[in-house]
Amino acid sequence: MKIDFANLTLAHNEYAEEINAAIQKVIHKSDFIMGEEVELLENELKNFVQSKHVITCSSGTSALLLALKAAGIKNNDEVITTPFSFVAAAEMIALLGAKPVFVDIDPFTYQINPSLVPSAITHKTKAIICVSLFGHACEIDTINEIAKKYNLIVIEDGAQSFGSIYKDKKSCNLTPIATTSFFPAKPLGCYGDGGAVFCNDENIAKKIKSLRVHGQTKRYEHSFIGIGARLDTIQASILRVKLKHYPIQIDKRVKVARLYEKYLKNKSIQLPTIADHIQSVYAQYSILSTHRDLLEQKLKHKNIPYSIHYPLPLHLQPCFSYLGYQKGDFHIAEKICQQILSLPMNPYLTEDEIKYIAGAIT
Ligand SMILES: *Cc1c(COP(=O)(O)O)cnc(C)c1O
Repeated sequence: MKIDFANLTLAHNEYAEEINAAIQKVIHKSDFIMGEEVELLENELKNFVQSKHVITCSSGTSALLLALKAAGIKNNDEVITTPFSFVAAAEMIALLGAKPVFVDIDPFTYQINPSLVPSAITHKTKAIICVSLFGHACEIDTINEIAKKYNLIVIEDGAQSFGSIYKDKKSCNLTPIATTSFFPAKPLGCYGDGGAVFCNDENIAKKIKSLRVHGQTKRYEHSFIGIGARLDTIQASILRVKLKHYPIQIDKRVKVARLYEKYLKNKSIQLPTIADHIQSVYAQYSILSTHRDLLEQKLKHKNIPYSIHYPLPLHLQPCFSYLGYQKGDFHIAEKICQQILSLPMNPYLTEDEIKYIAGAIT
């Protein structure tokens, strides 16, 4: 059996006709930068998430940079975030000269532990970036309450959680500013790099729009130091097709997760824990194993692809050594890094494939 981890080929084949036509339409018009499709996509994303403003951009990473800049984060500020995630959020904090301050995670949800946030707050703290890891929001209500009390801005990094629901709201509409990524392997992916910033404040939206085109407020008049971070029109046209079918894709991912639960429930591994008030889009299906080396061998033996998200916590990454963190500073993040393993996850996995994968796990 040949199992595909993210199966981008089938994802294309399913909507190939519509996607090819959309690309051809852009080529025919040649409005490659900030073309009509970009604004149409932004309106459709707005409807989907129910946020007042959406600014598409060149990647999930540039979305974070734009969000932090718009929030006024600068040199010597401190921003609280999780040590267990992809590097982008902490990296963009540091790129702006601010200091990423890590807080340990919850051992079951792997998300930032809100109860540990207050003790990390100092007079320099300006913001919290909470990452909605593996496809669903973290305990955002508690984080928003803490932020309100200490007058901090909250940014949700929703790169993996676009489309998920927290209580009755969509991810990317839970905090004053939120970001997502349309990297091909994310739940809603384009055919290259892409991202978006979401907010409800008109002034912040205006600032982000300007920062996205070199801080321009009028043509060739630059009010701020910004970057070139536009989403190109071809990507927007592809995303418009994929967004239309996205609810069905989410349902399929959830079904795959339910099948994993069914076939993995009596194995000696820890399955993902998701609270009842949260619906995940399962960007990853990540399990914990106390014998991960052995599990990796078994999966390799059966030719089953897998991935480790993430092998090294951020506080121990070489690029952050200047922050002075030590091994042992965040026990839970460190332990999870040693035990976590992501199984294949995509809307096209069949029950037989899931049975086969489960059969390789003891
Ligand atoms: C993928 C990802 C990003 C970065 O997105 P890009 O589009 O690759 O720049 C940021 N944060 C998280 C949690 C991610 O998974």
